[in-house]
Amino acid sequence: MSEALVSVKNISKTFSANKGMFGKKKFVHAVNDVSFDIMPGETFSLVGESGCGKSTTGKLIDHLITPDTGEIWFEGKDISKISDNEMRPLRSDIQMVFQDPYGSLNPRMKVQDLIGEPLLIHTNMTAGERLKKVHELLGVVGLSPSHGERYPHEFSGGQRQRVGIARALAVGPEFIICDEPISALDVSIQAQVINMLEDLQEQMGLTYLFVAHDLSMVRHISDRVGVMYLGNMVEIADYDKLYEKRYHPYTEALLSAIPQVDQNVKTERIHLEGEVPSPSDPPSGCRFHTRCPKACDRCRREVPELKKVAEGHFVACHLY
Ligand code: SF4
Repeated sequence: MSEALVSVKNISKTFSANKGMFGKKKFVHAVNDVSFDIMPGETFSLVGESGCGKSTTGKLIDHLITPDTGEIWFEGKDISKISDNEMRPLRSDIQMVFQDPYGSLNPRMKVQDLIGEPLLIHTNMTAGERLKKVHELLGVVGLSPSHGERYPHEFSGGQRQRVGIARALAVGPEFIICDEPISALDVSIQAQVINMLEDLQEQMGLTYLFVAHDLSMVRHISDRVGVMYLGNMVEIADYDKLYEKRYHPYTEALLSAIPQVDQNVKTERIHLEGEVPSPSDPPSGCRFHTRCPKACDRCRREVPELKKVAEGHFVACHLY
């Protein structure tokens, strides 16, 4: 078995929030003791509702923030505690594509300068060489060289995301963190962007961490999926295995919300009661117990550990 490209080991991250009533300082437990590996060439998806810690996990791996505890290994090097200077040479290997390309692209810069900026920072290319490379990248993401002369506001949402992807590809990364890259796009455009990401992965041997809020979005692109709830990893499995047999009641509810392609397969939609509890005041024991239809006394007291239930399939639930 090959070595993991990315290895996340027991990372936790807490943010201090506004003071609550009586001036007591609050802490948001965004990511809590999360571990997983990403193998070279695979797409590992992190899925869960808003506030589950999936995007924070992506930012921790991208070194935009640092974990309080735990380690993040990339290509055999622990990058969790290194300085920004030490991280700089790795910047061309790890890139990020954001949910809101409009927010992440400087509106005053032409698209050719936006895509060329990482080349200016990380390479010794001349201006002519950079422009040639930018034109090549525009072609790779299905745009033409003339698009380089335009500004971000002159593009549709889908085209802007293509620009964001071209910018991420500029320095030839091995690993791309795609943070909800299709959530803000029309459904008709989502499939085009997913297909393009899949083609690029095949052509360039890329490895992806794909962050999304529901399982239907990662259906076609994922090799493996990690399901997160309120900062905890609750289930990890191959997407196909998860589709056949899921163990965690939360994963069951997420999957029941996906419309069935096969009309002969009848699944009952599971509606979870109540809101997701605040990560600043997470429930005791299993954090899902306040919404779990199968919760028992033990669930309120004891935190379930992520345990192996089948080959490559891990679940954190007292039922297994
Ligand atoms: Fe539900 Fe208990 Fe399992 Fe948590 S540990 S998912 S509350 S059954």
